[in-house]
Amino acid sequence: MNRVANVMDTAPKTAGWDGRTLHQMLDDSEAAFAKSGRCFGLDRLPLKEADPIRFEKIFSRLRGSLVNARETALNISASPIVKELGELCFCLYSPEGDSITLSTGILVHVHTMSEAIKYMLRNDYEDNPGINDGDIFVNNDPHIGNVHTADVQTLVPIYWEGEVVGWAGGVTHVMDIGSNTPGSNAVGPTTRYEDGLYLPCVKCGANDRLFQDHVKRCERAVRTPMYWSLDEKTRLAGCHMIRAAVQALIREEGIDSYKQFIREVLEDSRRSFVERVKQLLIPGRYEAPAFIDAQFADEARLPAETRKDILMHSPFTLSIGAAGRLDVDFEGAGKWGLHSFNCTPSAMAGALWVALTQTIMPNDKVNDGAHFATGLHCPRGSWVNPDTSTTAHGNAWYYLVPSFGGMFRSLGRAFYARGYVEEVIAGYGHDGNILQGGGIDHHGNESAVSNFEMSCIGGGAGTIRDGLDHASVMWNPEGDMGDVEAWEMVEPLLYLGRSVKTNSAGAGRRRGGSGYECMRMLWHTETYELQFVGDGAVFSYPGIFGGYPGSSGYRFALKNNDLEDVFARRAPYPTGDRHSDGRQATDLVRGDVVLDKRATDLPAPFRERDLYLSFMRGGPGVGDPLARIATDVAVDVREEVVSAEMAERTYGVVLEKSGGSVDEAATAARKKALREDRAAKAVPVRAWLAREREVRVMAKDFSAPVADMYRSSMKLSPAWAARYRAFWSLPDSYQV
Ligand code: MN
Repeated sequence: MNRVANVMDTAPKTAGWDGRTLHQMLDDSEAAFAKSGRCFGLDRLPLKEADPIRFEKIFSRLRGSLVNARETALNISASPIVKELGELCFCLYSPEGDSITLSTGILVHVHTMSEAIKYMLRNDYEDNPGINDGDIFVNNDPHIGNVHTADVQTLVPIYWEGEVVGWAGGVTHVMDIGSNTPGSNAVGPTTRYEDGLYLPCVKCGANDRLFQDHVKRCERAVRTPMYWSLDEKTRLAGCHMIRAAVQALIREEGIDSYKQFIREVLEDSRRSFVERVKQLLIPGRYEAPAFIDAQFADEARLPAETRKDILMHSPFTLSIGAAGRLDVDFEGAGKWGLHSFNCTPSAMAGALWVALTQTIMPNDKVNDGAHFATGLHCPRGSWVNPDTSTTAHGNAWYYLVPSFGGMFRSLGRAFYARGYVEEVIAGYGHDGNILQGGGIDHHGNESAVSNFEMSCIGGGAGTIRDGLDHASVMWNPEGDMGDVEAWEMVEPLLYLGRSVKTNSAGAGRRRGGSGYECMRMLWHTETYELQFVGDGAVFSYPGIFGGYPGSSGYRFALKNNDLEDVFARRAPYPTGDRHSDGRQATDLVRGDVVLDKRATDLPAPFRERDLYLSFMRGGPGVGDPLARIATDVAVDVREEVVSAEMAERTYGVVLEKSGGSVDEAATAARKKALREDRAAKAVPVRAWLAREREVRVMAKDFSAPVADMYRSSMKLSPAWAARYRAFWSLPDSYQV
């Protein structure tokens, strides 16, 4: 008989170990870590030391069962975001909520679900509403543990003979969450009350069945109830598969070994992470800020007080200690705002975690051991840690993704300094454009769409290779653009073309991955609203070591056009926007042109046959473009990644007029001229700083969004203000 039964006469029934509540287990775990700096205070790892092969086998078996759960469960779902693109992830947690192992997929949520479980324990859910065998919980609240509201989590306790021995968690990105503008990355909410359906760690089922009232409530709250329901079944099926796999493992290995294993594996991973930091990185302080714009001044749909152009400020400092400690600091980040781009510390911790899995620990045991070895400072009151729970989070990724560009650039420098040149990556392209909107679709149904082609933007260059072309994204290393036909099934827009976006890749000795573009045409819908979501006025991912950023974006649409006539005449129609100036379309079709750098806007009406260009950004480069091998540039031109004009202007490579091979003599002359031009323009950094100080900083010659950005950071963080003043040698009284 288990221990719980023995103490039942004298104490209330608890599901924790040794007669403790789960809340007590969490407190004990945190106290042991605070005291010793080791998970659960573990000094030795007896299970691993006695039989390391068995230890590895248990881990591999658990990991295999999670991957299996994901691959099986996603076939239950009909949401293309989940099925085609794999926007789901499963994870196994300890009773205290620390991740043990995980499936492939959208890894950012491994840690956010951990926070959700801990929230339930800290708030004594064990007492009320109860945490029983067969119960089901759901969460999507970023202030509890999430990135944005469309990522919906299902959490199921795993029982063994009356005790909780773990949690299974599954997350899917749903197609719509019922916010005030349609789509799953809503840009429209300005407060929590416009964000849509909130499920803050809600008990939504018992005895392995969902409560009918929960099902009905959700179906009536979102625009895509069928997909919501299928996604929820996907998450639940996966969690139940994980639970069965864990119980089968316990039957074979014994409960004591299982309990010991889930303790040791966390401490083992923590130690391994520390060793890897010491081995791979040069200690020091690395700084890499990032910015992204949103131009809302003319958005009549927004409340008056939120109609302005804004610029996100993400100061980013990575500190690497000699003993393998890794700390990330966002001190100086500006104030949270009345927009849906706010993040929570849970979101930032999830992002830190997903960045680490792709850099420092891609081939070790991936779990929360790494979380125990890292520190994260999110200043209170800033957009990374709002001091109110009323903030909107519909599109938290919009700020989060650029801000973590600093992580990749900092790690890239630290890898390079240690000599691991092959590990360097300059980051990713911005994960836009998102084609997003809603209305009555081509099936006659109310619908909402968020196109996830943006999970395949250009990757960052490395020092020994170019970035991956249209292949990946920061938040899901297994990104997939999805089949055109799958998107045409759910979106009332046909594809007229999908092609490489010329000149989107950041230039460099190694260039960034290329982006791509899709020309879409509204089809069989009376009324549909669409928006653009991406960087426009500023780039959000600089290159490193002299590499250039990938191009920032723009919006292009051709509305109220004469395509019907073009088709009737069987005349050529536009398949893209090769020159990024609309010409390819406007040469063939007449209509009302939308063409500007306001690349994030609010949903606006589109009609049948209107054209919408969705341009996925390219990645940043590494090293001086003039050092790129000329024959590689010739290949880029042949593959339309780089135009012949840009080859000459940026790379200094001149191609033969016919055949496209390198004109050696002209190239040598062109590179010489470019270098002489650079030398003529160059000034010493000291002189540039002195001049910039006078004409820009002292004169306060900033655009309104830039001035707002500085004011916000200086007001919120005296420490950042002091650093800014010290950098520019400004008087203590200086204010923007
Ligand atoms: Mn999501």
